This record gives sequence, C-alpha cells and structure tokens, in this order.
Amino acid sequence: MTTDFSTLPLTPEMLANLESLDYRKMTPIQAAALPSLLQGRDLIAQAKTGSGKTAAFGIGLLDRLNVAQYRIQALVLCPTRELADQVGKEIRRLARCMPNIKLVSLCGGQPFGPQVGSLEHSAHIAVGTPGRILKHLQKGTLDLRHIETLVLDEADRMLDMGFCDEIATIIDHTPIGRQTLLFSATYPDAIEGMSGRFQRDPVVVTVDATHSDRHIKQHFYEVQKGQRVNTVAALLAQHRPESTVVFCNTRQQCQEVADKLQQRGFEALSLHGDLDQRERNQVLVMFANKSCPILVATDVAARGLDIKDLQAVINFELSRDPEVHIHRIGRTGRAGKKGVALSLFIASEACRVNALEEYLACSIAVETLKTPEIEAGFKLRSPMVTFCIDGGRKDKVRPGDILGALTGEGGIPGNKVGKIDIFDRIAYVAIDRTIRKKALKQLSEGKIKGRRFKVRRLIPSA
Ligand code: AMP
Repeated sequence: MTTDFSTLPLTPEMLANLESLDYRKMTPIQAAALPSLLQGRDLIAQAKTGSGKTAAFGIGLLDRLNVAQYRIQALVLCPTRELADQVGKEIRRLARCMPNIKLVSLCGGQPFGPQVGSLEHSAHIAVGTPGRILKHLQKGTLDLRHIETLVLDEADRMLDMGFCDEIATIIDHTPIGRQTLLFSATYPDAIEGMSGRFQRDPVVVTVDATHSDRHIKQHFYEVQKGQRVNTVAALLAQHRPESTVVFCNTRQQCQEVADKLQQRGFEALSLHGDLDQRERNQVLVMFANKSCPILVATDVAARGLDIKDLQAVINFELSRDPEVHIHRIGRTGRAGKKGVALSLFIASEACRVNALEEYLACSIAVETLKTPEIEAGFKLRSPMVTFCIDGGRKDKVRPGDILGALTGEGGIPGNKVGKIDIFDRIAYVAIDRTIRKKALKQLSEGKIKGRRFKVRRLIPSA
C-alpha cells in the first residue's frame, strides 16, 4: 500500500500544509481509510488514539467543505470534552491552509451562551459531546440539515457511557445523504448494530493494533509466586509516577492489592464492579484530579475511565488475551506523551508472554527486579487533596461559586485550586496539598452561594 499523501486527490495547499506539519507519510489507518473516504464512502474503522485517526477523518471532512457557505457541514461526536478539544485542535491545524474555516466546540461543562453566540455567527464544523449537541438541537440553536460528514469518534466509549439514544436523536436531525464515519477501538455487537442502523455499505478498515504503542516503553518482569505486591511497590517507588493504573484480573484481587499498597505507604484506590455509583464517582474524581496516584482496577471497571496522561500502567497479572493487553497499555503514552507499561508474570504464566510475542510478532525481553525492597517510611502521595461539599447541581452550586468561595476575601490563590466536579447533590474540589488546612477553613467557615454547606476531606482509602 502506498503511503505518500501526494497519491491522494488533495489540493496542493493541503499537501503543502501536511508537509509543514511534518506529516511525511500516511499512518496505516490513513493509508487504508483515506482513498475511500475521499470518494465519499461510509467507513467503519478500528483505530485508537495515536493511530492518526483524527487526521484521517479531519482531511476527509475538510475535503468536502464548501467554505463559501457558512453553515455546519461536518459534525464530530466525541465521548468526552478532552477528546473533543484534541480533535478540534487537530482539525484546526489541518485547516490552516484553508482561509476562514470556522469550527465550534460544543461540549458539556462549558457555558451555553457563548456556544449559541458562535453558532449564530455561523460555522462550518462542529465538534462536541452528544449531551450538549442534543441540548442545542432541542433549543433550536443548531441546524444539522446541511451535514455532509458525520463522525462518531470512539463510538464504543460513547456507547459505554450510555449515549446511544442521544446519538440516534442527533443523527435523526442530519440528512440521509450524509457520509458517516465510525471510529471505534473495539467491535462489540452494539457497534455493528450502530453501523447497520446509520451507515450505508461502509468500507471496513482495521489496522495493526500495535501501532498506537509507539510512545510506550514496555517492561516484563518474571516474579516469584507471592512477590507480586512487593514488586509492584518497588516499581512504583522506582518510577514514582503521578498517575498509575494497576490492572488486575479479578475484583477480589483489586481490593487486596489496593489494601496492601496502602499498608506499604502508597495512596491507592480500587475500582471494581462492587462499588455503587457514588463510590465509583468518588474514586474516579480523586484519581482524575490528582488526589490519588494509584488506581487498582479490573478491565471492565476501567472502561470509560477518562484520564489524559496516565504515566504508567502496571499489569499485576498479564491478561490471557493479547488484545486486552494492548488495550490496557494503550491508556498510557497518549497524545505524544511518554508512558511505561510494566507487566508481571509468574513462571506458570510464561505462555501468556509467548502469546503476546506471537501476537506482536516480536520477541519480548524478560527482566528480573533484583531486590524488591523499599526503604522504611516510604510514601507515595498525591500533589492534591479532595474536599467533598454537600451541595451540587440541584442546589445550584456551580464551579465558579466554589472557586469564588475559596479565593475570595483573604482566601487562597486560584492556581492552588484544581479540578472541580459537580454532581446532583454533591461537589468535589481538588486543592493543592500544601494549603489544605487553609482551604478547608475557608470553605467550611465561608459561604457558597450565600449558604453554608457541610465540607469534609476525602482520604484515599482502599
Ligand atoms: P490521533 O490518533 O489522531 O490522536 O493522532 C496521533 C498523533 O499523530 C497526533 O499528534 C497527530 O498530529 C499525529 N499524526 C497524525 N497523522 C500523522 C502523520 N501522517 N504523520 C505524522 N504524525 C501524524
């Protein structure tokens, strides 16, 4: 397969722009998808972050735009705001060669008004999350009748997150003759169902799953039976990553590993199917806002986990399935960042290493960690702590109110306040560990929205 962009029917401006972006050759997904995509075909592609999929659909949708017409002609649906931001940035870079292209970002968690403003001024491309796009449709502030290209990015994650109905309603507002591009890292039946429902004779593209691990350094350690936890602790002490997911194969294992890491001075939380929704939210919030550096999770529980820069993935036990392994380690080393994947196995599991070697068509060097000892009194602590406020969306508490309460009148500097997460009846705010006492005082003695709410600190405990 040829991999030169110049073999594609693209404008000279676009080709020059790709060169200026230092995109010298097409990535495998681009080489496989772009020729049909530029012919207007529907496409279903198995591709992950890091594969160059954004440029694949970005080049495609830009090619179909009529710049002279200021109306939304391309819509990209993404599961999260973070992904939508990344996609928006990449499309803007690709559109540098086309003057006056306007792209609007329509994501939840952002003020509604300015989005309406941008839409009123007209735009060519909209990128956003399903909930917010539906809200614009319901309020009549978004018109999708001129959509030429519809992209469903990370469709499996959108389904996992329960966006199925929203997506169907949004698609109902688009014309039948549109081009529909569906990207998904996995192929559960639901994705096939989605394709059958919304696509016409799609071209199917699958690329080598290993392509996305180019920023990931993998290490494999053979350990003695019963030495796994010690080895994980030693590796964590050695690498000191700010955020790590330790994957286990069972729920019981998760709890046990998190407990044992806690006992050894590591802040760790476990995420598994036995948690209720509130507990699950709490764990995810603390991990994402940097109040807990280690998350011990099963594969199922880690679905929908949305962490941008995971520095390390540890496989407490190697998965039997190479696909699962690739999926696990694909959570680190994203968006050009470096990541490490550390995998443990005992002698009787060596066949799993062999299976991986076969799958990846490469040989794996096995290492041994000499003394998995860590110094007495070692602690791995997060840079932030989380406060939980007994008021949420239904109490009309907004992020700005919490920020205001913290920073107002002799309060703490805004740059010491981290992520704020608001749920129906509860809110969480991350605060720099060094000023946690002052922040707690400020929050519990002051008022939020003119009211006093109960505030307490959450301690990561497995
Ligand atoms: P994505 O899979 O869309 O998240 O893209 C991963 C990274 O690859 C992004 O930083 C892109 O800017 C970059 N990229 C995409 N296509 C190419 C290409 N043909 N050559 C070099 N880098 C690329």
